[in-house]
Amino acid sequence: MSAISYIEENDTICALATGMGRSAIAILRVSGPQAVSIVDGIFVGKKRVAHMETFTAAFGSIVDEDGRFIDESIVLVMRAPHTYTTEDTVEIDLHGGPLVVRSVLDLLIRKGARMAEPGEFTKKAFLGGRIDMTEAEAVMDVIDSLSKSALNASMKQLKGQLRDKIIELREKLLYETAYIESALDDPENYSLDGYSDKLDQTINYIKEEIDKLLRTADEGRLIREGIRTVIVGRPNVGKSSMLNRLLGEERAIVTDIAGTTRDTLEELVDIGGIMLRLVDTAGIRDTDDQVEKIGVDRARDALNDAELVMFLVDAEKGLHQDDLDLAGQLGGKSVILLINKIDKISTDSPESGRLEYIERLTDALKAAEVNSLKEIYTSARTGQGIDLLQNTVREMFFNNELGNEEDGLMITHTRHKEALVEARASLDRVQESINAGMGEDFYTIDLMAAYESLGRIIGQSLEDDLADKIFSEFCMGK
Ligand code: GDP
Repeated sequence: MSAISYIEENDTICALATGMGRSAIAILRVSGPQAVSIVDGIFVGKKRVAHMETFTAAFGSIVDEDGRFIDESIVLVMRAPHTYTTEDTVEIDLHGGPLVVRSVLDLLIRKGARMAEPGEFTKKAFLGGRIDMTEAEAVMDVIDSLSKSALNASMKQLKGQLRDKIIELREKLLYETAYIESALDDPENYSLDGYSDKLDQTINYIKEEIDKLLRTADEGRLIREGIRTVIVGRPNVGKSSMLNRLLGEERAIVTDIAGTTRDTLEELVDIGGIMLRLVDTAGIRDTDDQVEKIGVDRARDALNDAELVMFLVDAEKGLHQDDLDLAGQLGGKSVILLINKIDKISTDSPESGRLEYIERLTDALKAAEVNSLKEIYTSARTGQGIDLLQNTVREMFFNNELGNEEDGLMITHTRHKEALVEARASLDRVQESINAGMGEDFYTIDLMAAYESLGRIIGQSLEDDLADKIFSEFCMGK
């Protein structure tokens, strides 16, 4: 990493490592050459921070320049190089709220630290050679993870599985290039007889591995960004109520007047570890009201993009021509049909005595060639059927009806995907050269291009601005 030099590399940085606000304790992190001496200057305890051994903690008080008490605190000293940033690092646990946190940060800054840039702790870890780019990005995902699946995928990536695979593929490419170079230099000792066929096979293997990684890219996106889900149905069937029920709080405005959900709302919902990006749409129907019309257009767009459709009908009102029309638009979609307001139906058990009109609707959906179809009786009002709905979503996800984790190894970044696509294109060119009977020296250029492309995934040929761009996405204090 010596090629990248940052003027501010030797600064001592500080930041709040825990979330601002509600948490019972707040942890400040100070990292850099002055970390120990700066904290030593503001901490009064049984021991001097400067005399503490690495990985030991001490209890005491944080005091300002005038000796005024700010908060009780535990400090944890971690000395270089065995720290996350590879520099001296001190953690300060505070018990006070945002005001105390603010004044301790101010105090640290007056003593010579500076506020960390977002992601700067991880950037230091990267620059110190502690972690590589895939791991650094995974840290960012861990910070950002909104669902357990995302967390899992990120953790696996963090453990370097992706890196190991990329390193394996790059080694093969390097070996072949070196072999060709050697053979051209020293034909007496290295033979190229029949070499092209062997190289062709190796390239096929690498391409297959790249394809496997590429296939996971969409699922990686699904897990990171959530499964795009829309709730559709006629006005007043309970779409907003269902969204609120799934969110567990009142978010959308629920009213009795048809057409009141005028815009689309987007919310992330964690359903047992599966993240849905839920779009609540205005009732899809033709309308003359201009404002409402905008909502309807957006609803149509959302429907086109959707990976999962929750289609609500009103159990009490029964089927409407609009429902059948809507069914006709759902070809290729994964659909969960929700027969809502089941609490209004007096029949003892609607599950056993299937509502007769539902059959007509499911027939229409099948005729439209939906990708998959589930049917659940719900009440957004009482919560009936909501557990079943959540289990169904999970099941569909794990049965690959919505996308699934493959081998746990997953491409979750567009940057990785682009690099893989490029590497694959270079390998195609090598095979074209082989088929065209070109000389071996032609192969090496494209082999090395593929090597370089793959290297970008693990930060091997990284431009500074790219590093900065990625690290600036990190949260403060990590
Ligand atoms: P939207 O127009 O489809 O978004 O429908 P809303 O969510 O605004 O609901 C319309 C009306 O139906 C409101 O008065 C809701 O309280 C009511 N409602 C929604 N779901 C249920 C349900 O499951 N049972 C009953 N009884 N009423 C419901």
